[in-house]
Amino acid sequence: MSTASQAKATEPGKTEPAPSAVMNTYGRFPIALERGAGAHLWDTDGKKYLDFYGGIAVNSVGHAHPHVVQALKDQAEKLWHASNLFVIPEQERFARRLTEDSFADVAFFCNSGVEAMEAAIKAGRRYHYKNGAPERWRTITVAGAFHGRSLGTIAAAGNAKYLEGFGKPADGFDSVPFGNMNALRDAIGPETAAIAVEPVQGEGGINAARLDYLRDLRAAADEFGLMLIFDEIQCGMGRTGKMWAHEWAGVAPDILASAKGIGGGFPLGAVLATHKGASGMEPGVHGTTYGGNPLAMAVGNAVLDVLLADGFLDGVDAVARRLWFKLQDLVAAHGDVFVEARGAGLMLGLKCAPEHVNLDVIKALMAGGLLTVGAADNVVRLLPPLIVTDADCDEAIRILTETAVSLSAKAKA
Ligand SMILES: *Cc1c(COP(=O)(O)O)cnc(C)c1O
Repeated sequence: MSTASQAKATEPGKTEPAPSAVMNTYGRFPIALERGAGAHLWDTDGKKYLDFYGGIAVNSVGHAHPHVVQALKDQAEKLWHASNLFVIPEQERFARRLTEDSFADVAFFCNSGVEAMEAAIKAGRRYHYKNGAPERWRTITVAGAFHGRSLGTIAAAGNAKYLEGFGKPADGFDSVPFGNMNALRDAIGPETAAIAVEPVQGEGGINAARLDYLRDLRAAADEFGLMLIFDEIQCGMGRTGKMWAHEWAGVAPDILASAKGIGGGFPLGAVLATHKGASGMEPGVHGTTYGGNPLAMAVGNAVLDVLLADGFLDGVDAVARRLWFKLQDLVAAHGDVFVEARGAGLMLGLKCAPEHVNLDVIKALMAGGLLTVGAADNVVRLLPPLIVTDADCDEAIRILTETAVSLSAKAKA
């Protein structure tokens, strides 16, 4: 109140907007998105955008998907929450479906990526505790990783930017360079319990692991009796054209963390594990009040209906391959702005030339009607909903091209 009246006093006839009461943890674009349909969004001024960020890889089936909306409405009229003290039939069903076609035997549900990763790390430690080696509790992680923002997961990822100001990082993590098996094998010691890696690093700049690297991680885990944890929070749930990114390598983890696309926008996370990987997780060892509640499970099942529909993932693969070649052409023609295209499936990144800061490129694309998201290493991430069409991709390429031309002209001026 006082701020508004002060603004009035200093600027007659004008009032400044009241300062936001939302805690200042994000640099926000001054745009409010109001409505979405499929791969498109509209802001409160009515401006239309093509969505190539998908709420950071969350809106897997696009916006307002009729099947998912209906499932949410139907469940909303029956039961929202029951707690995990009772059997939740929709949760049983979701777990069965997620494990039926994957490496996993069991699933644990939570509400976000960070919770899934925390539970995955705990399961990796608890396996050894339960199996007679309580001294094994450390997890090997890799540089450039992102596993969430809890005290545990910022220590796991070891990114100085996210650790700053929070005191001594939680112990129990040993970081090695990404993709380097010699360094990883050297880091294995008598206290090592697990290895945790994103098959495609997202936040770290869209770095896809070589498939050989994923196979070598499996081999090292087997040789030393370690739990292999894949963080597929961003790269899983169909984003690479297979349900799980590790399927491309033909090897499986013991434990996997999922979130983002799994709920299509409803806050939902999951840990999938083999019986072995989950063997330390007994009643009372870990828990969550909301996790896997009927409302979330109804949405999860509906999203899964879409992803498992005949030919859907093949369609993702086909659209992604076509887009990949168009991005190569874009880089070839506009290398002064975009120096490299990287990624897998519909988890793609354009690395910008040093004179073009990714945030400025993202703002220019936004003005042109294309929403994207940044990542480390001066990368612009492209994370469209998985329902994106060839025509949508052509439109994105058109905006990327026009933006590159105008940024290039500005840089030369
Ligand atoms: C987003 C992300 C997380 C954290 O998920 P939240 O839902 O934000 O807690 C963890 N790991 C990876 C790979 C992610 O992309």
